[in-house]
Amino acid sequence: MTKSIQAIHSNIASLEVDAIVNAANRYLLGGGGVDGAIHRAAGPDLLKECKKLNGCSVGDAKITGAYMLPAKHVIHTVGPRWLGGNKDESQLLASCYIKSLEVAAENNLRSIAFPSISTGVYGYPIELAAKIAVETVQSKLTSLPSLASVFFCCFSEDDFNIYKKLLGQP
Ligand code: ADP
Repeated sequence: MTKSIQAIHSNIASLEVDAIVNAANRYLLGGGGVDGAIHRAAGPDLLKECKKLNGCSVGDAKITGAYMLPAKHVIHTVGPRWLGGNKDESQLLASCYIKSLEVAAENNLRSIAFPSISTGVYGYPIELAAKIAVETVQSKLTSLPSLASVFFCCFSEDDFNIYKKLLGQP
């Protein structure tokens, strides 16, 4: 099967994919940034389901329904805060992508869209984070037969350009 990995410039809450990934916090009780945008668009039932999950560790991922979103599921992952680069940030960030892909595969999903995890409020430098995102997805995807399409959903033009360059996308 041919697999595709593509950068797009969009609001992740508008995407019709099997799962969108939420860059959440450990409490899974909503927040700002992409988390806030996803909860606003999904409606209050998403928060109700999240409250039953007992939070999520940094580097881990948990799946819920998507309620009023056009996507079918939301995979909530918790990225590391950038603390200078010597606190396992790169492994934890890679783990967010790996665990999210594994959860998607366990649920037989075919398409998934990621935001640029940790690069907003959590302060991870975008160039470093995008490289980890792209390399981790490229190497993990081959071992997950059901997953056919991965999108990196970039909110800013600058992020979009960085991801396109890493993917060799025109
Ligand atoms: P974190 O706390 O993991 O840093 P943020 O939500 O602050 O999470 O930022 C993560 C990334 O999500 C940033 O690149 C931000 O620009 C982006 N972002 C914010 N809103 C949206 C959205 N609606 N769709 C896609 N990406 C978004």
